[in-house]
Amino acid sequence: MDSIPPTSLRSGFELHQSEYEQAALDALRSGTYISGPLLEKFEKEFAEFIGVEHTVGLNSGLDALVLAIRASGIGKGDEVIVPANTYIATVMAITINGAIPIFCEPDQYFNIDPAKIEELVTEKTKAVLVVHLYGQACQMEPIVQLCKQYQLFLLEDCAQSHGAKFAGTVTGTFGEIGCFSFYPTKNLGAFGDAGAITTDNFVLADHIRTLGNYGSHKKYYNEVVGTNSRLDEIQAALLSVKLQHLGELTQERQRLASLYNSGITNPLIAKPQVAPKSDHIYHQYVIQCSSREHLQQYLRNLGIGTLIHYPIPPHLSEAYAFLGYQRGDFPITEQQADQVLSLPLYNGMTEPQVERVIEVLNRYQGE
Ligand SMILES: *Cc1c(COP(=O)(O)O)cnc(C)c1O
Repeated sequence: MDSIPPTSLRSGFELHQSEYEQAALDALRSGTYISGPLLEKFEKEFAEFIGVEHTVGLNSGLDALVLAIRASGIGKGDEVIVPANTYIATVMAITINGAIPIFCEPDQYFNIDPAKIEELVTEKTKAVLVVHLYGQACQMEPIVQLCKQYQLFLLEDCAQSHGAKFAGTVTGTFGEIGCFSFYPTKNLGAFGDAGAITTDNFVLADHIRTLGNYGSHKKYYNEVVGTNSRLDEIQAALLSVKLQHLGELTQERQRLASLYNSGITNPLIAKPQVAPKSDHIYHQYVIQCSSREHLQQYLRNLGIGTLIHYPIPPHLSEAYAFLGYQRGDFPITEQQADQVLSLPLYNGMTEPQVERVIEVLNRYQGE
């Protein structure tokens, strides 16, 4: 059998290749490349899909987070509670704004542990920024409650959770602002960098749109010092195509994941669990193994590629040495970082490929 890559963007592209090509060609021929009707159309479609009043297209998921935090009035010296086990962009969005990340340990579902947030709240706390990691919605009920009680902003990093629900409600609608990435590997991935925010609040949406356009509503009249973060017409057109197919693409991921769920029986491997009331859209299918490096090498030798999301938690990253954390400060996060492994799972992956991964995993005998 041919080797199996950890992910394949090409196979996802090929599923609807002619539609993407036509959309890109139409966008090229339109003569408008930034802030035109294709962006407007996608923003409307995405707002409808999530079930919010407003979507603002931006240049990346990081920009969505940075501008959401800034528009919430969070800045120098303010504290933002954030899961310790996240992609570092979530944390950078906080520190870029001069605010301080306060790390919270995850639960067994890899999401922020709702029972551990309250003890982190201080007088400086301004917001809780949750991350629906790997495509599974956080336990939002207690988190929404806590944010109400302490009057904290609730922001959601939905970079991995396009369409995932908690108790029937779509992620990106629980807090004031939902922040999305459309980086190519995400479930709703563009063909370049792209991102967006979702909100029901017109003032916040308008503020973020202005910040992403040099702080300007009207050309050459700049009200605040903003930045350049716009979602261009070609990416918007391609995202509109993919959004139309997102339901079936998500179902494909869930079907492949359910094969892993029922097929993997090796006691050396812990499968991902789905929390009560949470939806999982399987942005990643993440197993845990105490001999992770050995398992990864074993799979590599047999032609199966895997990835690690993420090997170094933000508090131990060189970039955040200045925060002064050490190994041992967040033991659950660190253990997950040492043991997680993302199996191949992507649109266009075939069932025989999944069966092959399962068979090889079940034959694994440890170190
Ligand atoms: C991808 C990702 C981001 C950043 O998105 P970009 O579009 O790459 O800037 C932020 N948070 C999480 C959890 C992500 O997975």
